[in-house]
Amino acid sequence: MAAELDVRPTKQKGQNFVIDPNTVRRIVRESGITADDVVVEIGPGLGSLTLALLEVAGHVTAIEIDELLASRLAQTITEYAPNQAGNFELVVQDALRVRSVPGPAPTALVANLPYNVSVPVLLHMLALLPSLERGLVMVQSEVADRLAARPGSKTYGVPSLKAAWYADVRRAGAIGRNVFWPAPNVDSGLVAWTRREPPATTASREQVFAVIDAAFAQRRKALRGALRGVVGTAEEIDAALAAAGIDPLARGESLLIEDFIRIAEGLPGIVA
Ligand code: SAM
Repeated sequence: MAAELDVRPTKQKGQNFVIDPNTVRRIVRESGITADDVVVEIGPGLGSLTLALLEVAGHVTAIEIDELLASRLAQTITEYAPNQAGNFELVVQDALRVRSVPGPAPTALVANLPYNVSVPVLLHMLALLPSLERGLVMVQSEVADRLAARPGSKTYGVPSLKAAWYADVRRAGAIGRNVFWPAPNVDSGLVAWTRREPPATTASREQVFAVIDAAFAQRRKALRGALRGVVGTAEEIDAALAAAGIDPLARGESLLIEDFIRIAEGLPGIVA
């Protein structure tokens, strides 16, 4: 396949392409997208998922960092989906640097994400595109666990909490490594999410995220110790935890996003 396509996948760009048609069909089916959807796909690669998405979605906008793959993808669409080419938009850019997406407002994100940047890309898209209502992404299995984790579990942490700011997240299945070319040395998992109402709070998202980052920077530390000197003085932290009704000796891993929001509300001076 490498010789035939003259493509040399790089690890650095997380290039593991899905070559199993059943897996592609499964992702599209589980994403639940219809002709009413405008889909954003990050990292279309060789285009297997893109072509399947174009068959059902009203519009697909794909964002690909690799210029060579992007130029091939444009040809692939013209060749294999000429009737849908008018419903397709290709952005050749690092998804993390994208500041706007052309075409109609996206309603769904469906992607086999580049594994090295999967969480930042997902969070960036959730923040950038409030019109996104739901999504299904394939990520490394361990990352899928973290994104969908509940408080108190070992995998609960920064990705779970930041994703929970935007969406209700659940794990939607496992994918083995043999459906990819080249096969990665980790298994993968599907994560489905549905946008939730933005939290009603006086704290900004940046302030809440700063408290989350501080709480987990020293995971084993009690909240009071982890937050002091990072997002406020000792006195400010004690007052904010008391006002939020949170035990200063609790750890971040036992708290919900709503708890972090209440703590941030008590620390209006955080510069995030
Ligand atoms: N969707 C294809 C599939 O399922 O076969 C390819 C998935 S592959 C795991 C990840 C893709 O994301 C590659 O095409 C890679 O070039 C692209 N990519 C990597 N980093 C990216 C970034 N920061 N922004 C946009 N695309 C990126």
